Amino acid sequence: MYQFSRAIYRELAPRITDPSGAGTATTNHSAVLRACEDVITRLATDRHYFARPARTLFCDVRSYFPMSEQAHVHHVVTRYVGYAQQFLTEHPHEGYTAVSGAPPQCRATTRKGAACQRVPLPHNGYCPSHQHLADTEDRELAAA
Ligand SMILES: [Zn+2]
Repeated sequence: MYQFSRAIYRELAPRITDPSGAGTATTNHSAVLRACEDVITRLATDRHYFARPARTLFCDVRSYFPMSEQAHVHHVVTRYVGYAQQFLTEHPHEGYTAVSGAPPQCRATTRKGAACQRVPLPHNGYCPSHQHLADTEDRELAAA
C-alpha cells in the first residue's frame, strides 16, 4: 500500500517550501511523507468511514507548498489517492493486510463481547452472518 504514499511524496517532494523561521526543510519533508502514509493507512484499514481521503490529504499538506503549487499538489494527491482507492476496491484484503500486518476481520462484536473473527465482505466490512448490522448502519447514517 505504501507504494501509493511514496509515489505521492516523490512527486511532491521537490516542491515543498523551505521553511522561513521555525522548522527545517527535513521536518517539512517528513511531515508531508507522514501525512501521505496516514491517509493511505486509514484508507486501507477504515475506508468505509473515510469519506473524502483526497480532500483530507490535500488539506493536511497544502501549507507545506507555495501558492503557485497548490493546483499541482491537488492534482497529484487526487490522482494517487484515486489509484489507491481503485486498488483497494479490487484487493481490499491485501491492502488491509499490507498496512496492518494482519488480515481484516468482521467489524461486528459477538454476543459474548468479543470481536468477530470471520473474514468480512469487502463492500461493507461485515462477514456474511453480520450483514444485518451493515443494513442497520446504513439506516442510522441516513437518519443522522
Ligand atoms: Zn461477523
